[in-house]
Amino acid sequence: MTKPTTTNTGIPVESDNESLSAGAQGPILLHDHYLIEKLAQFNRERVPERIVHAKGAGAYGELVVTNDVSEYTKAKLFQPGARTESLVRFSTVAGEQGSPDTWRDPRGFAVKFYTEDGNYDLVGNNTPIFFIKDPIKFPDFIRSQKRLPGNGLRDHNMQWDFWTLRPETAHQVTWLMGDRGIPKTYRHMNGYGSHTYQWINAAGERFWVKYHFKTDQGIENLTQAEADRIAGADADYHRKDLWEAIERGDFPSWTLYVQVMPVAEAEGYRFNPFDLTKVWSHKDYPLIEVGKWTLNRNPGNYFVDIEQAAFEPSNVVPGIGFSPDKMLLGRVFAYADAHRYRIGTNYAQLPPNRARAAEVNSYSKEGAMRYDYNDASVPVYAPNSFGGPHADPERAGDSGIWDFDPTMVRAGYVQHAEDGDFTQAGTLVREVYNDEQRDRLVDNIVGHVLGGVREPVLSRVFEYWKNVDADLGKRVEEGVRAGLNGNGSTPPPAQG
Ligand code: NDP
Repeated sequence: MTKPTTTNTGIPVESDNESLSAGAQGPILLHDHYLIEKLAQFNRERVPERIVHAKGAGAYGELVVTNDVSEYTKAKLFQPGARTESLVRFSTVAGEQGSPDTWRDPRGFAVKFYTEDGNYDLVGNNTPIFFIKDPIKFPDFIRSQKRLPGNGLRDHNMQWDFWTLRPETAHQVTWLMGDRGIPKTYRHMNGYGSHTYQWINAAGERFWVKYHFKTDQGIENLTQAEADRIAGADADYHRKDLWEAIERGDFPSWTLYVQVMPVAEAEGYRFNPFDLTKVWSHKDYPLIEVGKWTLNRNPGNYFVDIEQAAFEPSNVVPGIGFSPDKMLLGRVFAYADAHRYRIGTNYAQLPPNRARAAEVNSYSKEGAMRYDYNDASVPVYAPNSFGGPHADPERAGDSGIWDFDPTMVRAGYVQHAEDGDFTQAGTLVREVYNDEQRDRLVDNIVGHVLGGVREPVLSRVFEYWKNVDADLGKRVEEGVRAGLNGNGSTPPPAQG
């Protein structure tokens, strides 16, 4: 037997189909409480979409530690044999909620671990690097990738204007325009913590660390032409793929690795290890296996579990800390602040965000939509004489410490021997991409630039790519000029 419809407060309703009106053709009556509740609720069904990473997909899973990395960290979730429940949200970055999954864009790779010591969030991307290195540029960068204020259109000229004026973007743009710029599915891409983090072992020794999730499905990508076709045919291609794989029991997994750098080596390393536009070469710091991370459960309700999921790099647990990576330090503020605005001050109470294994003994109280409350016998202030929770001095330094010059400055990172905006981008083009990948890179750049880039930006685009690699720059210029003259066989402008 079907259950009776009720109002939000459980009162049985009279009709699902007819509003209360004064006569069959008369005005609708304001005291039809159920009608008003229904319309008012509907008007409020959406929370603001994320300003970045609005379109996503997610699932629950588990991390199982298969190796012993306890010499580097005391974090309980990384101890041998530990199993930790986890939530992921994959996403595109620049598009809105309904935008196609297959636009060329980095992919978000935000992971939450429900650990014994509280929630640990590793909020990364499918790239080990990023476009910029200082958080003061983040709003500018994102605006340049979004829409023009007048006509509301995406604008390639604006994108390239920003990129070429900030050459530290070159490494990430070279990646983005390469094959991995459009993954085949969320299952077929790697994830990277991207930032440099700190690990602290039981003896208090500190290490710099970078995280790598390598897909066990193998890396597979879409060409621009395939992605453009799918964008029209099935905008939710990646969300559907992830959902269907998990529904049929084909659980995707990744092997988690770390690169570990002893703190004493950072200063002399050939690249500044805290600069988010650089990687640490695998040759210098080989990958060390940590464990297996598997996704095995779809969300019960997309809005509750994924849309309301709140990932924040500020969530680090004992044994893991921050580093002098300025982008990381900016994000430590910005993410929690975004959640307070987007889903409300008590977002940590919601199902995907609630700590699981850990007890929450916070002095936070009240605020909109608060539904749990502290034991009435426990004081609402600290310190107190009545048995309220108290902080543990043993935890001092748990979120990481480092030495620094205390002079206040506005300055770029200290330059190391091989730092330079174009160095690693050039390595990627010359030493990692093969001939076919380089050909597709040229086609992708030319197609994107022909999508509306004008002088004076255009000349800077040619210069930018010549700085990455002389031959690449020459080919890009030839391809674009041929396309502009209408006599080249150039691909159509790329989306995204
Ligand atoms: P390596 O030759 O040891 O590593 C190159 C790495 O590049 C591979 O391990 C793979 O990383 C990644 N890669 C392979 N094909 C592509 C592709 N088509 N697009 C993007 N990345 C690809 O050299 P280094 O570690 O010295 O790095 C050289 C360059 O490789 C860097 O400048 C950087 O651009 C790129 N790279 C480096 C990574 C690192 O963390 N060191 C990670 C990824 C790229 P993976 O195994 O993670 O798939």
